[in-house]
Amino acid sequence: MIDLHTHSSVSDGTESPAELMAAAAAAGLDAIALCDHDTFDGLDDAAEAAVGLGVELLRGIEISAELDGQSVHLLGYGARPDHPGLLAELELVRDGRTQRIPRMLERLAAAGMPVPAEVLDRHIGDSPSVGRPHLADAMVELGYVADRREAFDGWLADDRSIFVPRYGIPLRRALALVRAAGGAAVIAHPWGRQSREVLSEAVLAELAGAGVLDGLEVDHQDHDEQTRAELRDLAQALNVLVTGSSDYHGLGKLGHGLGCNTSSAEVYGELRRRIGERGGRA
Ligand code: AMP
Ligand code: FE
Ligand code: FE
Ligand code: ZN
Repeated sequence: MIDLHTHSSVSDGTESPAELMAAAAAAGLDAIALCDHDTFDGLDDAAEAAVGLGVELLRGIEISAELDGQSVHLLGYGARPDHPGLLAELELVRDGRTQRIPRMLERLAAAGMPVPAEVLDRHIGDSPSVGRPHLADAMVELGYVADRREAFDGWLADDRSIFVPRYGIPLRRALALVRAAGGAAVIAHPWGRQSREVLSEAVLAELAGAGVLDGLEVDHQDHDEQTRAELRDLAQALNVLVTGSSDYHGLGKLGHGLGCNTSSAEVYGELRRRIGERGGRA
């Protein structure tokens, strides 16, 4: 059982990297990729915790990218965490994440939902990658909403009143940087939420044709059966890899339990092979 997309509290999951690895072992997983948003910070802890647990760690990251003004999430596997160009872009994203928070707090206060800084800070913890889920958790604690889903559906989603956009790395640049850093690139939930609007078959074909795209995350909870079937056919036609993953966020995202979608051993091996060939760090 191989799960190639999970999060820890280093971004917007609720378990530390070590707790995540223990949960993966308890769930009977053989391998997982930790893909925190826009940071590599949890990977060393996860690798250390994996020793002796019988779970293999694949080093990953979920990059906040952008295409035509829409948010696109890019999974980078085995990208070297010291690549200067990639690091510089990730820093821009994290700065953008931090800088938009006061504006969202203002909007929340104006809507009658003040969030004291100390409450928000508790949910951010020592995460270098602040996200709307942290705000959502603060709203839950303050009794404004029942859970993260209600916070997003009512207030925080891209088309809701509290949302403030932030910087995302232009998708083609993000793909080039993952490759330059020795990694393998898989587009996360390509036809879930907003990204379906911009990731047309033509765009995906262009990226695959340019040789910068390794795979598509087909089996994901944001895709219904029909979408999965269409994407699987497209991936086959474009000769890119098909992955499946949980996008686990601990208690932060219900219906995304570890191993609820999985990837094949063949695809996992191929990703590792490509990372090795490109001089990445898996
Ligand atoms: P941000 O990183 O601030 O752009 O927030 C996006 C993150 O919020 C995603 O990576 C998901 O983890 C989470 N998210 C997005 N939409 C929802 C939703 N409708 N319900 C719960 N979590 C969501
Ligand atoms: Fe997330
Ligand atoms: Fe995502
Ligand atoms: Zn994710």
